[in-house]
Amino acid sequence: MLVVMEAGATREAVESVCSEIRRMGLTAHAMPGATRTAIGITGNTGPVPRARLESLPGVLEVIQVTQPWKLASREVHPDPTVVWVGGERGAARVPIGGARVVVMAGPCAVETAEQTLTIARAVREAGAALLRGGAFKPRTSPYSFQGLGAEGLAILSRARSETGLPIVTEAVDTESLKLVAEQADMVQLGARNMQNFQLLRAAGRCGKPILLKRGLAATLEELFMAAEYVMSEGNYQVVLCERGVRTFADHTRNTLDLSVVPAVKRLSHLPIIVDPSHGTGRRNKVAPLSRAALAVGADGIMVEVHHAPETALSDGPQAIVPGEFAALMAQLRRIAPVVDREL
Ligand code: PEP
Ligand code: MN
Repeated sequence: MLVVMEAGATREAVESVCSEIRRMGLTAHAMPGATRTAIGITGNTGPVPRARLESLPGVLEVIQVTQPWKLASREVHPDPTVVWVGGERGAARVPIGGARVVVMAGPCAVETAEQTLTIARAVREAGAALLRGGAFKPRTSPYSFQGLGAEGLAILSRARSETGLPIVTEAVDTESLKLVAEQADMVQLGARNMQNFQLLRAAGRCGKPILLKRGLAATLEELFMAAEYVMSEGNYQVVLCERGVRTFADHTRNTLDLSVVPAVKRLSHLPIIVDPSHGTGRRNKVAPLSRAALAVGADGIMVEVHHAPETALSDGPQAIVPGEFAALMAQLRRIAPVVDREL
């Protein structure tokens, strides 16, 4: 259910509706919009006493949310959500989902301080808004490089102080989530963990914006439901990420499903970005699919960049070099205005 407040409803009116919802043993999620506040109700197993809510001051109407994902749906929040990242510890404050498209770039994995700082400086110079880099890596093989862990987070913090770029990095379990939420500006939940419901709930309580990547074989509804897990705990700062799904195609690592972008825009208020690096797995396809991602309406892209891809400890074949990244940025700057965006 959704309580729609009148345009001029006061904060007190919103708070008293929320208290009434809590008295019913339910959870209230007040979501202010551009013109009015909506209050999502979760936790009900049966009907909600609608008349009681409708009689409260400031309430315009009480409506049924038809989608199974509630807080992530456009019905609850008709305006697009802008997720703010950074603004602390020397990092710039960056909006995701507004007029400006964001580019997150960096190595697949943090390998050494020198490697990460070299790449961070290069992507900053080319105009990236956020630095990515895994300290905790979810690898297919247990024998592959698993990431530097806490040491990797310390290197990322150094890169943030030096470049002013906010950091986005992955948490692979509830233990790493604590460290990542403490030190990073945005917490990435990877494709393999999209349906790790315990981790999603914990991310909903971690206090940092979340970058939620689509699972390897997840439907759109499953992606929304995963976002709903995070939001149901009170964290509405969620950015979705398309990173390719498994198909029979073998000319790419995954099949980048760009059609999901307009589908998300129609059904949800959450921003969505595209990761053409994991989406294709091949360096030569990263720039074309990045251009396509902006053209199709994505709120940004996430790209893996490495100055020495041949010696990279993970995902070398899909990393573009700093020069290629700078050339791509120049093209994206020309594409953005065509779709009424800035870069
Ligand atoms: C990553 O971005 O480093 C990553 C592991 O991506 P995904 O979870 O999409 O495979
Ligand atoms: Mn990678």
